[in-house]
Amino acid sequence: MYLETHYLQHRSQTYSGLAVSGKNPLFVRIHGGRLGERFSQQEVVGLEGKMGIGCVSSEKQPVSSFSKSGGIVLGFDGNIINYSNLGEESNDVNYVSRIISDQRNFVQGIEKLVEEIKGDFSIVALAKEGIYAARGWGRKPLILGRKKGAYAVSSESVSFINPGFEIVRDVKPGEILLINQKGFKTLAQLDLSPVKFGTFEWIYTAYPPFIIDRKEVASVRKNIGRLLAKNYPVDADVVSPIPNSGKLHAKGFSRESGIPDEEIFIRYDYSDRSYTPATQEERYFQAETKLIPMEEMIAGQRIVLIDDSIVRGTQMLNRASVLKELGAKEVHARIACPPLMAACEYGKTTKKDNDCIAQRMSLEKIQEELRLDSLKYATVEMIEEATGYSRDKLCLECWVR
Ligand code: SF4
Repeated sequence: MYLETHYLQHRSQTYSGLAVSGKNPLFVRIHGGRLGERFSQQEVVGLEGKMGIGCVSSEKQPVSSFSKSGGIVLGFDGNIINYSNLGEESNDVNYVSRIISDQRNFVQGIEKLVEEIKGDFSIVALAKEGIYAARGWGRKPLILGRKKGAYAVSSESVSFINPGFEIVRDVKPGEILLINQKGFKTLAQLDLSPVKFGTFEWIYTAYPPFIIDRKEVASVRKNIGRLLAKNYPVDADVVSPIPNSGKLHAKGFSRESGIPDEEIFIRYDYSDRSYTPATQEERYFQAETKLIPMEEMIAGQRIVLIDDSIVRGTQMLNRASVLKELGAKEVHARIACPPLMAACEYGKTTKKDNDCIAQRMSLEKIQEELRLDSLKYATVEMIEEATGYSRDKLCLECWVR
């Protein structure tokens, strides 16, 4: 369980928490920061039990509460857009926990939750009868795995690979499962509509080996790259990702176009993803410091830069300027999603709609502002083709609202 939680660390680094029920009284502990850095070896090795949950999150989790049917300890991925109108709790995790524990059982708790909220979620909850898992409308992935009679649910199947679990299947949108020593069973299948899968998981959020709703993240990314090359060809000497998240898109672009794929930026491993910092200054600082150009590969070259998205344009402007200063002949950008027009309401993000550069200026103006020789974005049609899902099944709210 510890390892499985560790392999979700890319999803958040603010808090990590573990809860285990076993021989001893329930163990629940939350630390600020990353799991591996904050939990001592003693704490982890000393854990004994048959069931537990682990969380990495921007809020303190897991959350414990007493319910009418006993206590539950709950971990939550998602966002409740209207929770401030609904209660006095300090955050939406506490709000969700109270709603669920106020009902007679977990299933009724989730039924009440989906009646009351606007938002989306995946939830795991540790109770004396087992571990409950519930998925909302589909934006937050949840997958079930198995290993020699042990079961696990996780936000990403990347958690299963090294601990030796195999994928059983995705928890379906609207499904509520109970997992315990007898195995797993579906307690309820709620009819939630419309079902919408979290499109950005495939493009950016999830780790490449993850299979979400039967589509592998790595192949979706390569497919988008391939479609970008096919639809927006360019004469160039080298294709380079903005690491790390542009890497697989760049591979697809390179294969389709025949232009060699080279990393002309090396990512300094100890930097965080650049959208996480709260202030503009911190973002500029990170964008400037996290990528180091390979100078000898740049002068005189026509370069295609591939990135997963452009939010504020900070990183792309910085990269294009560095390349021009180091003598690049041309810099073209190909972006793996349509122009971002709105902040995501379904996750914890610091950005606002107005932060999105595409909200404030035309594509021609963005190209000029970012010092690019050409700029092209993937279209919704390309994402449909790459994922194999039609637009009515895809959440597209950060592009079209
Ligand atoms: S709005 Fe965008 S980031 Fe948010 S869930 Fe939908 S696709 Fe994902």
